[in-house]
Amino acid sequence: MKVLVINAGSSSLKYQLIDMEDESVKAKGLCERIGMEGSKLTHKVPGKADYVEKREMPTHKTAMQMVLEALVDPEHGVLKNINDISAVGHRVLHGGSTYTESILVDDNVKKVIRECFDLGPLHNPANLMGIEACEANMPGTPGVAVFDTAFGMGMEPYAYLYAIPMEYYDKYKIRRYGFHGTSHMFVSGETIKFGKLPAGHQKVIVAHLGNGASVSASIGGKCVDTSMGLTPLEGLVMGTRSGDIDPAVVQFIANHENKTVDEVLNILNKKSGVEALSGISSDFRDLSKAEAEGNKRAALALASFKHRVLKYIGAYIAEMNGCDAITFTAGIGENDAALRESICANLSYAGIVIDPEKNKIRGKNVEISAPESKIRVFVIPTNEELAIARETVRVAGLK
Ligand code: ADP
Repeated sequence: MKVLVINAGSSSLKYQLIDMEDESVKAKGLCERIGMEGSKLTHKVPGKADYVEKREMPTHKTAMQMVLEALVDPEHGVLKNINDISAVGHRVLHGGSTYTESILVDDNVKKVIRECFDLGPLHNPANLMGIEACEANMPGTPGVAVFDTAFGMGMEPYAYLYAIPMEYYDKYKIRRYGFHGTSHMFVSGETIKFGKLPAGHQKVIVAHLGNGASVSASIGGKCVDTSMGLTPLEGLVMGTRSGDIDPAVVQFIANHENKTVDEVLNILNKKSGVEALSGISSDFRDLSKAEAEGNKRAALALASFKHRVLKYIGAYIAEMNGCDAITFTAGIGENDAALRESICANLSYAGIVIDPEKNKIRGKNVEISAPESKIRVFVIPTNEELAIARETVRVAGLK
């Protein structure tokens, strides 16, 4: 059984065709510059040279048509017929407070995705275009919406409500949602499976450390807290996002620099984080290199990033009254062994002991803690596409 996973952006469409028999990727690719000049499709099949097609893609519907053509093409295709695709899984950013789980797409689901345009203005309209493009090209093939916010819906009101007048929640559903939910769900689930964590000992903290970064706490796979909020701006110091900040900073900058609130928010989202602190880059490889060469601001940015990660991990250990496993994932979490070691060194109070040799292993699930460690520590590569494909099979009732 094959599942097509779609991640539609405003001018892009990423896809992966996954064979659910062995969860292998049969083909994947990207349509770029949809609706602009110079649009192109890059289609990759394992073991073959990349196929690139430059053709106009005025809409997501045309882009989707090209993807399907590529998938059944006699030369670079991997399917005989598009009917061999059993279902399509769609990454959707925001399900508002309506959807706590993935759901089979119908008119009502599309209506809710539309109602959430306000909450996810950059992603939800594009995600809906992706859904409609598939419906137009593959009528009859079930689609499943997998929401990035669904995992965070596990939080209790005391964790998700902001302490602001309740009317704003009642009117606009302003609350903490949390993002990277599909990754946190996948990685916390894999931690339980891979680590064989017994029932009753499944308090897991996941540190998803990428360009966008967040930490989650879950018990038995159910989220109890997560660091992102109404938007992905809250929480950790990120590549270009400030993370937690006193909202009065917004007022101060707006007044003193004669900027609108939107302009200041743009600065907090796109011109802050480790990039602003370092003055060099948002990329951790650049920062580590600069720090090694003695650059003080790169060192400051990295220290600040680590400080905030530790604050959240410490808070979540306290919130859950203990923790059974901490798992690192995403670009930085999976690759930056020095950072992991340094974070864990600061958790020795909680009895964490890292095995430096295991901490060097890359590219696969690995337990990096020593046998005597009181909290087990893992590195588990995230795989949001596979998580979406698994959800699609489950929700579409294909198994
Ligand atoms: P996103 O999906 O949010 O764009 P990723 O999960 O791809 O982010 O992570 C990107 C980050 O991972 C970048 O800051 C990059 O520097 C970092 N990264 C990738 N490889 C390494 C590495 N070997 N060492 C340190 N950081 C790395």
